[in-house]
Amino acid sequence: MSGSQVRIRKALDGLPSYKPGRPAAPVAGAEQAFKISSNENPYPPLPGVLEAVTATAGSMNRYPDMFATGLVAALADRFDVPPEHVATGTGSVGVLQQIVQATAAEGDEVVYAWRSFEAYPIVVGISGASAVQVPLAPGARHDLPAMADAITDRTRLVLVCTPNNPTGTVVWRDELEAFLRRVPEDVLVVVDEAYREFVRDPEAADGLDFYRRHRNVCVLRTFSKAYGLAGLRVGFAIAHDEVADALRKTAVPFGVSGIAQRAAVESLAREAELLERVEALVGERARVHDALAAQGWEIPHTEANFVWLALGEQTLDFARFCEDAGLVVRPFAGEGCRVTIAEPEANDRLIRLAGEWRAR
Ligand SMILES: *Cc1c(COP(=O)(O)O)cnc(C)c1O
Repeated sequence: MSGSQVRIRKALDGLPSYKPGRPAAPVAGAEQAFKISSNENPYPPLPGVLEAVTATAGSMNRYPDMFATGLVAALADRFDVPPEHVATGTGSVGVLQQIVQATAAEGDEVVYAWRSFEAYPIVVGISGASAVQVPLAPGARHDLPAMADAITDRTRLVLVCTPNNPTGTVVWRDELEAFLRRVPEDVLVVVDEAYREFVRDPEAADGLDFYRRHRNVCVLRTFSKAYGLAGLRVGFAIAHDEVADALRKTAVPFGVSGIAQRAAVESLAREAELLERVEALVGERARVHDALAAQGWEIPHTEANFVWLALGEQTLDFARFCEDAGLVVRPFAGEGCRVTIAEPEANDRLIRLAGEWRAR
């Protein structure tokens, strides 16, 4: 064969590809290995969900309901919003991609905090829009005044991640209020609340509350974390008419499978059990946080199901140290490790290893 290479859009040059958390490999010594690198839920699906999904599997020869009518109705009911304001997608990253596609292209700017969710630079980069990354403030928190300063007449979209992945910190209500006063009304502000269910800080901004009062606010949520359906790919946005409409236009047709829709509906109907599990993880979060703090670690206040260890240049060494002992954490070279709060046994091992690391 001869000839030249297929031409790929310049926008993709130099884009990182999303790195999924590595699977936990068994280590010598036969201790169970734990993957605590992707903020997954350690619990299996809620009782009854697996059975409902299994029953639905028999119709996999059919396309799913394209607009996930049943799920949209259940979400509208749960959050007391019009069904037209709910748009679903293949995980909230899928919905985010729809949002970026609907709002930003070459020549436009998207503002977000950094370090934040590793999917943001990829999704924005693919669109051809320019990313404007605003460094986190001390305490590893969003610097909303600086983000407002970064808005120009080219800005089309702002992403606010609360709790912030990977640092766990939340944006407070009064901060978001002051921020929104400075954002032009034709710029969309996405409040990415993938970890909302784990938030206990009463001062934390609630995206839905802001959506109800601001036409340019869109809330992004997912079934992947608290609900434990990461493998099924279902997330959703709650947004006003023009945004929700645009999200239906940019959706991958039939993207959310029938199984995923059913699992999400059944999970929503089991909120009591869900909350019990979330509460247990929140308890574990406090236990891990306090134990690490007692060892001398300085950990940003986390409201999510993970903790951030700002290890700087020691990041990769610590990740290797953990992996050798059967814990797969998520390193961000030169910055730190994000570690998921998981089953107590994994958390115990983290506490032990973190202590050994400091005592070296
Ligand atoms: C995990 C995560 C998501 C959700 O991903 P899904 O595509 O719904 O699985 C979205 N935003 C942030 C910040 C996350 O950490």
